[in-house]
Amino acid sequence: QGTLYIVATPIGNLDDLSPRATRTLASVDVVAAEDTRHSGRLLQHLGIQKRMIALHDHNEKDRAEALISYLDKGHDVALISDAGTPLISDPGYVLVRIARERGFRVSPVPGPCALVAALSAAGLPTDRFLFAGFLPAKRSGRRSALDALRRETATLVFYESPHRIMDAVSDMEAVFGEARELVLGRELTKTFETFYAGSITEVRQQLEVDPHGSRGEFVVMVRGAESAAAAGAESALDVDRLLQLLLPELP
Ligand code: SAM
Repeated sequence: QGTLYIVATPIGNLDDLSPRATRTLASVDVVAAEDTRHSGRLLQHLGIQKRMIALHDHNEKDRAEALISYLDKGHDVALISDAGTPLISDPGYVLVRIARERGFRVSPVPGPCALVAALSAAGLPTDRFLFAGFLPAKRSGRRSALDALRRETATLVFYESPHRIMDAVSDMEAVFGEARELVLGRELTKTFETFYAGSITEVRQQLEVDPHGSRGEFVVMVRGAESAAAAGAESALDVDRLLQLLLPELP
């Protein structure tokens, strides 16, 4: 039986490809890739020639079966995506699910992942975080998705495309309030890597004046809501204060 390797590739900086990732790509029989042209260039850069099979969201079920038949014949398969770790807002879930259900070995070759890279350098709490992927493209859907996360106390992490970043930040301002802490990681590991940090309003203003503010790829990180316990303590304090005020009035 073959093994399915889930191989992380760079999110911008080619030097981030691990030696083990290179060795794995060189040793497998088939490479399944989201975009074979894009990944073909990576393999070419590495001097590796492989049979490639396209696996994207629209054909994943069919292609998964084709790839499983390679595993069945004892061939090893590597899955890569256009950037970073497969399955993280990228195709591969159906393939991994089926491969596991049928008893094949599935083995990760870890490496770059934009959300982990961004969190590691943002200065926000990382003990608990909630990765929510891409927000809906339309304003009403986006606002209700954000509203559902309003009370979440873990750090929130989203992916966002450059042409929607301003809209997403202003919707966050409307839903989470101006003062919530926001950190954006843009073009991580690339030449123009930039972090924007501050209150949501401050970050919106930084983006507005930055000529590159709506270019490149973004990871959006929002500090979680104050904990329920802290909110409870606050309201207990309010009750104390209220009692102090009322006490002199009581008979
Ligand atoms: N699988 C990838 C990973 O492991 O991070 C994510 C793929 S997802 C389709 C692409 C999104 O990831 C982009 O829209 C952006 O939000 C984020 N992203 C990818 N590379 C990035 C980078 N170099 N800097 C900032 N964000 C990045």
